[in-house]
Amino acid sequence: MMKKKLQEAFSNQINEELYSAYLYAAMRAYFEGLNLQGFANWMRIQVEEELFHARKFVNFLFERSAEVTFKAIKAPEMQWDSPLAAFEAAHKHECHISECINKLSTLAVNEDDHASRIFLEWFVTEQVEEEANADAMVQNLRLVKDAPGGLFLLDREAGQRVISPTIVADITGAAAAG
Ligand code: MG
Repeated sequence: MMKKKLQEAFSNQINEELYSAYLYAAMRAYFEGLNLQGFANWMRIQVEEELFHARKFVNFLFERSAEVTFKAIKAPEMQWDSPLAAFEAAHKHECHISECINKLSTLAVNEDDHASRIFLEWFVTEQVEEEANADAMVQNLRLVKDAPGGLFLLDREAGQRVISPTIVADITGAAAAG
């Protein structure tokens, strides 16, 4: 049985993941407004990533017969000064999420809940990728600065991003998700 303190902390993390989805949905809307469809696609896929993360936490709590508490999701910002500013905000947000996951892992260890600790290892690894993905976009955008040609190419590249097969399987129930 999961300790109450840990159950609550896990529920808070569900809220963080759902807020992440909301934030990236807002960024998608921002890019749609600028007609940067590639960046909008990148964010659309990021929304699915975050919903997948939230589901993973919910499923784990169900598996542990723990209590799930859904809290209000705060409204995200809707405007940024530039595509670079939006991706910088995305990167900063992922660094915040990494901190949340680290704190949650420390709590799991302190509460002697090793099932939770092992479950959280997936997220520890995932956050390395999440930070790197957002940072790669930031670095590329800094490189092109305000050159429209560069922005056009980066937008095209971001349009190539596809949803991971693990998430597709999780949504469709086609196979056990990793
Ligand atoms: Mg996440």
